[in-house]
Amino acid sequence: MEFSSKLIEQAVGHFSGLPGVGKKSALRYVLHLIKQDTQEVANFSEVIKALKTDLKFCLKCHTISDTDICNVCANPLRNHSLMCVVQDYRDVMAIENTGLYKGVYHVLGGLISPMEGIGPSNLNIETLIKKVETNEVQEIILALNATMEGETTSFFIFKKLAQYNVTLSAIARGIAVGDELEYTDEVTLGRSIINRIPYNTSLTR
Ligand SMILES: [Zn+2]
Repeated sequence: MEFSSKLIEQAVGHFSGLPGVGKKSALRYVLHLIKQDTQEVANFSEVIKALKTDLKFCLKCHTISDTDICNVCANPLRNHSLMCVVQDYRDVMAIENTGLYKGVYHVLGGLISPMEGIGPSNLNIETLIKKVETNEVQEIILALNATMEGETTSFFIFKKLAQYNVTLSAIARGIAVGDELEYTDEVTLGRSIINRIPYNTSLTR
């Protein structure tokens, strides 16, 4: 793609760096922004900047939150002894949208992936073990993607927690291996949490 303006080229470069955005769509976004009024574009860029400067993570479960402790962790009506372990914020949103889960969460912030150089120490696993050590949780539901990285991470957590008195379950999904949690429909996802299965038998399914 040939550009008559360096600025346009740069902007297209940034947009096309987003997941699922090609050069053509990127150019469409840029031309759209040019047509907006100055204040509108300023607000947009402020929000983008604030994503890196103002965003907070819940001190307890590590999910994205506007407050130190998120709404779920701060809710006394939730079951704090039941904890669902997920990869990221999108999974918390997906599970919350089912309206069927009444426990709390623990957000790992990613999955173990030797290919991408992500090891256990890059994830929120230590704080997870702490919660089990201090008997804060009685049951953990592993709700990680059915990908190689998801399975590896689940197994790592399973090994780490084997010595503790905690029930380990996995969500019983009726979805194909490799499907991501966020794409599962709410009914299926909700049902898979209610009908969760013990983790060790889920390995031989
Ligand atoms: Zn929280």
